[in-house]
Amino acid sequence: MRRTQQLRIALLALPALVGSVLMATTPAGADPAESTTKAGSERSHLEDQEPVRLARIQLTGADMLDKVVAAGFDLEHGLRRVPTGIEGEAVVTAEQVAELKTMGVEILGDDESFAWSDEADGGLQASRAQAVQPLSHEQTVRVVRADWFTTKGQGFLYVEARTTDGQQTNPIVGMQLENDSGPSTSFGFARTMSRFVDSGQYMFHRNLFKLDARPSQIRVTSSTGGVATGFVSNWLEDGTPPLTATPGYRSDFVDGYRTPQQLYSRAEEIARQYPKIAEIIYLPNQTNGYQRKAQATIGGTGQAAVVASSAAWGHEGGNDITVDFVNRSGANLPLSVEVNGKAVRVLLAKDASGALASTAAQVANALKSQSGGLIDRAHPYRTNAGTGIVQATPVPVALTDFLDEKRAGAPAGDVPRGPATIPVLRIGKHRDGKKPGVLIQAQDHAREWVPATTSLEAAERLVHNYGSDKETKNIVDNTDVFLILSNNPDGANYSFYNFASQRRNMTNHCPDTDADPARRNSWGVDLNRNYRVGSGHDGYSGASTSCVSDTYQGPEKLSEPESKNIIWLVEKYRNIKFMMSVHSNGGQLFWQPGAYIADGRITTPRPPLGDEAFYWQSAGRILSQVKAHRETVVTPENVGGSSDVLYSSAGNVREDLYFNYGIYAFGWEVGGSVYNPATGNWQGGSFQPAWAGDPNLVSGHAETMEYANGIVEMFRIAAEWGKDNKKPTSSLVPGAGKYVGSVDVRFETSEPATVYYTTDGSRPTLESPRYQATEFREPGQVFHVTETTTFRWFSVDVAGNIEQNYDPTKNDTRNNYREATITVVEQ
Ligand SMILES: [Zn+2]
Repeated sequence: MRRTQQLRIALLALPALVGSVLMATTPAGADPAESTTKAGSERSHLEDQEPVRLARIQLTGADMLDKVVAAGFDLEHGLRRVPTGIEGEAVVTAEQVAELKTMGVEILGDDESFAWSDEADGGLQASRAQAVQPLSHEQTVRVVRADWFTTKGQGFLYVEARTTDGQQTNPIVGMQLENDSGPSTSFGFARTMSRFVDSGQYMFHRNLFKLDARPSQIRVTSSTGGVATGFVSNWLEDGTPPLTATPGYRSDFVDGYRTPQQLYSRAEEIARQYPKIAEIIYLPNQTNGYQRKAQATIGGTGQAAVVASSAAWGHEGGNDITVDFVNRSGANLPLSVEVNGKAVRVLLAKDASGALASTAAQVANALKSQSGGLIDRAHPYRTNAGTGIVQATPVPVALTDFLDEKRAGAPAGDVPRGPATIPVLRIGKHRDGKKPGVLIQAQDHAREWVPATTSLEAAERLVHNYGSDKETKNIVDNTDVFLILSNNPDGANYSFYNFASQRRNMTNHCPDTDADPARRNSWGVDLNRNYRVGSGHDGYSGASTSCVSDTYQGPEKLSEPESKNIIWLVEKYRNIKFMMSVHSNGGQLFWQPGAYIADGRITTPRPPLGDEAFYWQSAGRILSQVKAHRETVVTPENVGGSSDVLYSSAGNVREDLYFNYGIYAFGWEVGGSVYNPATGNWQGGSFQPAWAGDPNLVSGHAETMEYANGIVEMFRIAAEWGKDNKKPTSSLVPGAGKYVGSVDVRFETSEPATVYYTTDGSRPTLESPRYQATEFREPGQVFHVTETTTFRWFSVDVAGNIEQNYDPTKNDTRNNYREATITVVEQ
């Protein structure tokens, strides 16, 4: 660990160090020679001056960073976002350390191992490190991506470009995009790009442009003078036949939206029909139930209103309770309660003049304590103190759980009340934990109906084609698929039968101030905000602490049975290596990072370059299969780390599964925009599009079919991953050799793989620096080598295969890591 830190510092922070050392060694009026003599001739001049050291520091966010920079500290190099803030390095004296501390900066590396002395890596390392610096900060403009795709006869060019001046706001830095019209044509058609800023941080400039001819190259120019050109790539493969085009392949099984009961009973039926390749696993935690307490708001409005809730669930007797507020004749009568069976009569108090005299607060207390246990929750309305005088009810009021109201168009049949047990449909020929597991989790969000039908369609295709289709047999024989067709059955039923826009589950965590029945459509926990990594409980953005917010994170991490179940499943079935959290509707496919702390936009850690490349490669395959159905294109601006392309969603399931279990955890938003050639516009999707809507536009059926293609492709990716025993190869480009003056080098790998390297002569290990992206969404960094340097490295692919079978954990004698010496000779 110490080695890693020192090397990272040496590589990234040296320019700052050099500058500060110069200042420290020439204090006004000091005679360097004299001080050297005082300290003893054996010691380095560095130690004789006021000791300067490289301190690793942590800042809470962008605001603090601004302050520290304003105070004159140079933190330009080595800054990086970490889950708890921004980390950086500063070359500082003891006095400056004290100054930083008073500014609230945390000193992380203020110990001996970070002191700059010739006992540590010292001067020799300094010169070596100086020879290898990332080049990225020297280029002011870079093309991040330039993608071409067509859909329904129309071409599109999507460009992301970045300027290192992008954060500057006075003036704001503009970017112009030009493109050619094919090979060997000139640039033209200048257009202004849009500056993309998120949570106060400049991300990049980006635009999607409609074009008729495919350009070969683009050129971007910033208003501060930087220029970069780049070649245009194809986004998604055109003409890839989907599996559904294979002769004899069966598809199109799902013919309408499905309630949770219908989904679960079909899953159980599949397991019965195909026992050799399918089974049901019941998740251990029952849901909190499609059920509500019976309630009414009684006695008046405002301060006079009393909210009463039954002790029993509505369907277990709560709905039979009536409450009557009775105005007796007479004067000077006390408040009392009579209970006869399920009929509760509140005899309201009267004052000396014979007027009603019970306040809402008094009646609420009487109901709680004197209703024979029928009513266990009664309180004034919302935040009222309940000071108003309660009025008599003309007739007894029946409490209700409101679940008998059926919204127009709700499916026929009654919904079973009470807790639900969620089945997992497991499909695989060898369900022994040895094949890579793929978890498909649909409908965390209740109103998202298409994800459930999409997942069911994918399951139907597996079981129906297993006996006849070679590729399906390959999937079923080589993967272990776990499908949760609806992970939120209570909320989904509420969406089907009561309130179509329900997102969350049905658990009411609200205090009295939000517990009245008029709030019933606002209760519940957002299951995809209830997990443990990058949680709102730890300050990450994009989840709410309000029990009536649609992104309510719950009272604690994993408070809900539905999220506990997912953790149970991945802990029990450790072979689960892939996960797709299926949502709608946005036309997006994403992965980590998925959450950030807003101040400074501190994301959860970015995946290593190998994982990032694998995610992109998989996304290309999955989305090409989606496109193959009816030319729906999920655009590249909607693919990547979800907090980069969508928003921060604190406590989502994907972060937990990737960071805690190493599961490749995708999320996608099915549905979404489709290009309408008739209007020339993209037409947005919806949560519950007409099932048989226009098959070329927004249609539940068409979305189910095209996105099921993508899920099946994910199964193929997992099957290949499980069989992957091919070792990656990598190279340093350009390779070993003599270079005059300096040379720029970078690593290339034969497949998605992460490179670990050293430049200090040590053996590379898994603790060595990882080869990183220049910036997020960009390719690998470029090193500017100015002195002779030996790189030692190895690469690891996403299946864990290590280049040349090198063992980085042991000091084996073979030492068959890769090595290349870049010899730099003077000009
Ligand atoms: Zn969703």
